[in-house]
Amino acid sequence: MSDPDASGRRKPVPLKHSEFKLDAQLFIFATGQQPDLAYLGLETHSSNVNAAGGRIVVDSLTMETSVPGVYAGGDAVTGPATVIKAVAAGKRAAAAIDDLLRGRAPSPGLAYPVKRSPGALLQAHASDRARDSLIDGHALYIKERKNTFDEALRAISDEEALAEAARCLRCDMCIACGKCMDTCRDSVGSDAIRLGYLEQSGEKEKETDFMRPQERCMGCGACAANCPTGAITVEDKHGFRETSMCGGLMSRLELATCQECGQQFATTRHLGVVNDSVRGKFGADGHNKEVCSECAARVWSLNIFG
Ligand code: SF4
Ligand code: SF4
Repeated sequence: MSDPDASGRRKPVPLKHSEFKLDAQLFIFATGQQPDLAYLGLETHSSNVNAAGGRIVVDSLTMETSVPGVYAGGDAVTGPATVIKAVAAGKRAAAAIDDLLRGRAPSPGLAYPVKRSPGALLQAHASDRARDSLIDGHALYIKERKNTFDEALRAISDEEALAEAARCLRCDMCIACGKCMDTCRDSVGSDAIRLGYLEQSGEKEKETDFMRPQERCMGCGACAANCPTGAITVEDKHGFRETSMCGGLMSRLELATCQECGQQFATTRHLGVVNDSVRGKFGADGHNKEVCSECAARVWSLNIFG
């Protein structure tokens, strides 16, 4: 390595006659790099862009160079750094250009991204999400890609993009508070939701069980009502009640029809559980009549008050 330069950095210096050959398929140059600023004509003074220490000097707020309206960013400004820093520089420069074109003073910082209003969740069963695999972008073979600047990954089709989106677990919606699990187990008694990361069972963490809701859920909606983020939804359609978490279908249960008014009002499984729990308490056959709560109240008051 060389002696430290003005920035305190040492550089690798080639040693004469130290070369050797190594078989390789791909070579990634990963020692310190520096931009080739020859095109700026610094030595011939054909450009007014300032540079120092082999890097372009910019205003750190706007990324504007010493030439008004000319911006720079990335490794040519910072030296070797991360991609994210280069992206941030691009965003800062874009905001400054926007301010310039609109005749505004440069803003002191980038605004935080604003979350868009949530769109409809893509419905996909958890087991489908687990099974669907990453779209194969048909990467170019190593043999071809090592000598080309062509894109190594092709763009994916509309259908593939939709399939990719359906794999999203929407983990941004669930804050892992565990209220759904507590409600279902302690208040409802179904114990249909098991999220392993929420609860410790002795030393061993409980396993997340995706099959459990379809087997045990009765579609009462209590988990959705208690979910603080709206991650759980309940929807009645085509004679079934679908309960979903983060867009993943937890259960799909048949709806019962009220024998008085003809409205669909609860799942047959929920009704069965309720009827079982009151069996024998309200007369010989009072336990198995499928009547919605509004009709039950009306019939009850008619019986009492006439
Ligand atoms: S809808 Fe299903 S999972 Fe939710 S509380 Fe009721 S029984 Fe439990
Ligand atoms: S689905 Fe809702 S209630 Fe359940 S853990 Fe996530 S945020 Fe909490």
